Amino acid sequence: MRLRNIPRADGTIRAHKAVIKRPEDQRGCWGQVFGNKNPLRIEIGTGKGQFILQMAKLHPEINYVGIERYSSVLLRAVEKFDTEEFKDLQNVRFVCMDARRIEEVFAENEVDRIYLNFSDPWPKARHAKRRLTSTEFLERYEKVLRPDGVLEFKTDNTELFNFSLEQVKEAGWMLTNFTYDLHHNEEMNKDNIQTEYEEKFAGRGNPINKLTAVRK
Ligand code: SAM
Repeated sequence: MRLRNIPRADGTIRAHKAVIKRPEDQRGCWGQVFGNKNPLRIEIGTGKGQFILQMAKLHPEINYVGIERYSSVLLRAVEKFDTEEFKDLQNVRFVCMDARRIEEVFAENEVDRIYLNFSDPWPKARHAKRRLTSTEFLERYEKVLRPDGVLEFKTDNTELFNFSLEQVKEAGWMLTNFTYDLHHNEEMNKDNIQTEYEEKFAGRGNPINKLTAVRK
């Protein structure tokens, strides 16, 4: 994502009611943040927030946490949260952090599902470990996902997608479904919520790839 530094981003985010300031303090007790024991689903690289806010609106019985590394990007998500459509949602929070720290923030078995949407491709081979679907990251996810917890990944980047299919198998996860053309796959597209990137790339005619996998 092209990033424009926005000087007020850090302050605005720190003061926002939907942003968890010290997420590591909630490790093992995210239910207290939401005041219930509903399943916890997280999106890593939440960007401008469209996906997670729509999901939270559609599923009040699920708790959602959107994780984004850059405050200037997360600022857009909290501004969207503040709009009439989303401002009263009780079941969504945001965290500004690098997903490398995920084990410091969520306890073993605490997360029910992980969403990765249009993750940065890191095309150079020497940067493969930075891809959010690399075995390095899958090992981190295993530490926080419950045993039959699900990973969902969407991208228009076919090279990253093929890499991800291989990594999922190499990490010993079970691939439960995949498609190279989500928007023309009736079964997988049924409840699909589009992200900002998805709308942009699908609008240019790019097919969207999706896989779902379960940690064994
Ligand atoms: N998911 C959104 C969408 O589909 O419209 C945004 C996609 S954008 C290409 C990827 C986002 O992931 C960026 O906002 C980036 O800052 C964030 N990101 C990349 N690596 C991350 C990491 N290790 N931890 C947290 N966020 C990350």
